[in-house]
Amino acid sequence: MSLNTALSQISGIGPTFARRLEKLNLYTVEDLIYHFPTRYDDFSKITKIKDLKAGERVTLIGEVWDIKNIYGRFGKVITKAILNDGSGSLDLVWFHQAYLTKVIKVGDKLSVAGEVGRFGNRLTVAVPDWEKDQRSLHTARLVPIYPETALLSSKWLRNQIDKILPHALEEVIDFLPLNIKDKMLPLSEALSKIHFPKKIEEAEKAKERLGFDELFLIQLATLQIRKKWQQKSTVKPWQIKQVDLEKFLNCLPFELTGAQKRVLSEIVIDLKKPQPMNRLLQGEVGSGKTVVAAAALYLAKLNDLKSLFMAPTEILAWQHFDTLKGVLEPLNLGIGLYTGSRKKIQQSDDVIVGTHALLSYKIKPQGVGLLVIDEQHRFGVEQRTLLRSKAAYPHLLTMTATPIPRTVALTLYGDLDLSVIDQLPQNRPVVKTYLVPEHKREAAYKFIKDKIKQGDQVFIITPLIEPSETATSAKAAKVEYQKLKAVFSDLSLALLHGRMKAKDKEQVMSNFKGGQTDILVSTSVVEVGMDIANATVMVIEGAERFGLAQLHQLRGRVGRGVKESFCLLFTESSAAYEHRRLKFLEKVYDGLKLAELDFKIRGQGAIFGTAQHGRFDLKVASLSNLSLIEKARTKAQILLTESVSLDKYPPLKAKLATFLKDVAPD
Ligand code: ADP
Ligand code: MG
Repeated sequence: MSLNTALSQISGIGPTFARRLEKLNLYTVEDLIYHFPTRYDDFSKITKIKDLKAGERVTLIGEVWDIKNIYGRFGKVITKAILNDGSGSLDLVWFHQAYLTKVIKVGDKLSVAGEVGRFGNRLTVAVPDWEKDQRSLHTARLVPIYPETALLSSKWLRNQIDKILPHALEEVIDFLPLNIKDKMLPLSEALSKIHFPKKIEEAEKAKERLGFDELFLIQLATLQIRKKWQQKSTVKPWQIKQVDLEKFLNCLPFELTGAQKRVLSEIVIDLKKPQPMNRLLQGEVGSGKTVVAAAALYLAKLNDLKSLFMAPTEILAWQHFDTLKGVLEPLNLGIGLYTGSRKKIQQSDDVIVGTHALLSYKIKPQGVGLLVIDEQHRFGVEQRTLLRSKAAYPHLLTMTATPIPRTVALTLYGDLDLSVIDQLPQNRPVVKTYLVPEHKREAAYKFIKDKIKQGDQVFIITPLIEPSETATSAKAAKVEYQKLKAVFSDLSLALLHGRMKAKDKEQVMSNFKGGQTDILVSTSVVEVGMDIANATVMVIEGAERFGLAQLHQLRGRVGRGVKESFCLLFTESSAAYEHRRLKFLEKVYDGLKLAELDFKIRGQGAIFGTAQHGRFDLKVASLSNLSLIEKARTKAQILLTESVSLDKYPPLKAKLATFLKDVAPD
């Protein structure tokens, strides 16, 4: 067995299970041993039956006094056993596992783990994990619990990993140089302990090592990508005259904020260089990233180059198309649109805005000088790479509204230069935010009705049920929608959730944008990042389920025009600390500050949502572990200064090459 052996070749797995494993993205032995438990059940304490209480999760060791199958109606089979440990006895119950009477016999010594319940008068453990042999895997220990799919149980995974791990570990090469590894666990020990720790501290130590590996490799990879990018064939530096910039700025109906000016000058410096720009522009919703990008598009045109501008959804692409037309057509630029459903394009267009459909647009790379990607985390590596191949000498500007603390950004995006717009345009009406107590709900509904009478529009975000859109959350949104339809019976409402067909989503969005819909009821996972000047009220139900930064982004969907805007937060939680947390939103209007508060209060999940951040798939490391991130960064830099090519460390070099193949195939 080698680490590359396909799982389908492993005896006991075979093709059927291998296919199920593929659903978890597990193909090889190495993949499987890097499939980590999400938590551990502590069955390490062996309890006496006489001391048991209902509701406890325990491990028991005893002798089987009786076991039999009971056949009920409709083909039901219950297997019932009596276990005695000298201090007392209790019942064990399994359903539809009639074969158990063949493998468990009266007199067997059995170790079982599970939750104690009561059936009538008898203490019972229903569907316990059990084992007969002396060595305990599923009971009497810290039992690793793996993320399950419908067809692969945690127990099955535990069995396979237990079987494979000792052989696999013989093949594992610790790729960390000694001086980097320092006092951290050796790799094979870490891999062994993350699966089967004896104590929770061992699991922690294992996670530290494996988390370090992830961050360290990411850091090396991004630094490597940066170097490659800098060595890319040089571009002809752009000619950029101050008067041209001024001409652009004079055409705007407003003055750029200080932050926008600073960022624009950072971009201009890049564009005058002989290497392609690779810059990440971070700024919260409404901070005015698009205008800054527009300036760069204008400069491209003055240098006789075309630009491609890619947005994650049709609606955002249309919106950018409109905005850019407004800003750039007066300056004699032609703007084209290229999405799955709409193509409006002319040979002479200087800027082509589109969705990922752009990736199949045929254009001569020689003439393309600038690529802009909005909400870059929504695109995969392949998509970004493909877009890049559309320009012979691409200057790349990527944009994001996700507030990322600097330390994190420097690691995850270490290959990019970072620009931050940390200031909102003045005169932007602050979205007045209130945490509304339940007894004021009626009043809030009346407020909404009044606003709509004045011609305004309203978003109502239904509570987040699952980290990603599931049948359950779609259903919850539907239920909420029906309720609201009754409340606002003479208004027009529409429902939006992630399970709808793309076409239907677009329809709902454009109806809302067109003003045909008064209230848009939506789940939070749906992109509602469009500019609707008329939308002035954002209602968020179940606000306690969101991070502050997320709530801030949601409220940024209103207050896009000049009208006074409001955000009404409802919570189902009565916990005082939740109310205190949500009340921050009444006072703090700075997205980055809220992101930092989130970080302190809830850790990384709060910032990136539970959706992944789209770049690197972190299994172990937490982005809120800033000190581990710092450590990985520093060590990566030290190592690269010492050995740029990493030639001194062949195992690390090999590991990094594999990693890079996955994250940056070009
Ligand atoms: P982002 O893409 O960062 O969410 P946009 O570029 O879409 O933000 O800008 C949001 C709105 O603010 C747009 O209507 C834009 O015209 C306007 N805007 C941008 N910069 C300024 C500014 N300096 N002053 C006033 N309004 C601005
Ligand atoms: Mg935007």
